[in-house]
Amino acid sequence: EFINLLEKVYETGESTFSYEIPMQFFKEGKMQLRYYNFVYQAQKNLKDEITGVAVIANEVTSQALLNLAVKASEERFRMLSDLMPAKIICTNGSGDIYYHNKNWLDFAGMTLAEIKLDGFYKLMHPDELDEYQSRFSEAAATGNNLEMEMRFMNRTSEYIWHLTLATPVRDSTGKIFMWIGVTTEIQKIKEEERLKDNFIALASHELRTPLTSIKGFCQVLELMLVEKGDKGTQAIVVRMSRQIEKLGMLIVDLLDFKKIKTGILPYYEDWFDFNELVTETVADSQTAISSHQIELQLEPGEPVFGDKQRFAQVVANLISNAIKYSPNETRIMVTTTRQKQGMQLSVADFGIGISAPSLQKVFEEFYRISTPLQSTFPGLGIGLYISSEIIKRFKGRLWVESTADHGSVFFVQIPFDKRGVVEKGEFGESVDSILLLDDQP
Ligand code: ADP
Repeated sequence: EFINLLEKVYETGESTFSYEIPMQFFKEGKMQLRYYNFVYQAQKNLKDEITGVAVIANEVTSQALLNLAVKASEERFRMLSDLMPAKIICTNGSGDIYYHNKNWLDFAGMTLAEIKLDGFYKLMHPDELDEYQSRFSEAAATGNNLEMEMRFMNRTSEYIWHLTLATPVRDSTGKIFMWIGVTTEIQKIKEEERLKDNFIALASHELRTPLTSIKGFCQVLELMLVEKGDKGTQAIVVRMSRQIEKLGMLIVDLLDFKKIKTGILPYYEDWFDFNELVTETVADSQTAISSHQIELQLEPGEPVFGDKQRFAQVVANLISNAIKYSPNETRIMVTTTRQKQGMQLSVADFGIGISAPSLQKVFEEFYRISTPLQSTFPGLGIGLYISSEIIKRFKGRLWVESTADHGSVFFVQIPFDKRGVVEKGEFGESVDSILLLDDQP
């Protein structure tokens, strides 16, 4: 190789460089391996004729050994990443992909270059693309992790469900210089989930029919006992009816759950008076219970737009949770305030509260806090999930602030401007201005 190089430089006069070249030397009585950077430079006489080649060697053994170690380590991690069942990508701080593990390439049937170009976005299901992009921008702005269930197209053009978790990595100044995306296939879980949802829907549907008959018989029985003047038995039947009512509500929740999951929960949207609806719902809840006193504080507000029955369902759910989870207290406080962005409702109890790790999770489907105290309360863990899905339809927010053992405050905020500008003012005035602005009732 040396001779070839020397001849080439000698003939062309062009300098050549070679880096970290291993060379064996017999030194200090034994063969030793050293690494050199070389420069081969043509030597010329005054007539500009090449007369020889200068070879300048610079020993870089420690640097070369370090580079070899880095390379070996990179190789090991690449192998590790390729053998993992998850699909992995790395991007720079702005989201440009520079690494995919082998699983991605095998799954997508694309080359790294194709994926890098725009292939990654082409693999996403069109229904989830916008959400992914807006959630990625949000994660980049806040520096939070992104977690999303989404579909990617495999090499046979089938969409397969995955869970994607993108985590930002920061440099010493706090700037995000890299994102690591780990995507795990969850198709089987999704299919099982669908079967479970179908079962729930079927079971709750079947339960509803006999329950409606029992409810009817109870009412007839109660009337008969009133006529007979049998107050003792009548009181038992009234209590029975209440339990049936509760069972009915659970079944409705289960049916709503299924409808939300399949995106077919019907919404009948219109303008409604926020405070009036809260007042009515509080009154209904109060008639059904004697264990707690619901205190109501209203701030004059404005109408909001959405499905009023569904909103009443959310309020009733928050109140019934407040009652359920404060068994040793008697006060519940329901407050409405007029905020800049919209109308706000808060439902406060002074009961068992929620500890910090569960604060976000209570809105997930079937999530129930599993501490010994919490698990003594009956429930399915879907009420808050349904509520949060309904509030999402309002483009509003539902959140909780709570301290364990001191009670919880659930907040709902419904924006004013879902359908455009709403004039400030009293309820009646606003309705007029809305009709004018929208040009149709
Ligand atoms: P359920 O009450 O039927 O279990 P929810 O979806 O309404 O289901 O609530 C989910 C979980 O959140 C409950 O199981 C409970 O652990 C917790 N939770 C809800 N509301 C409260 C509250 N006001 N105080 C304390 N914990 C609550």
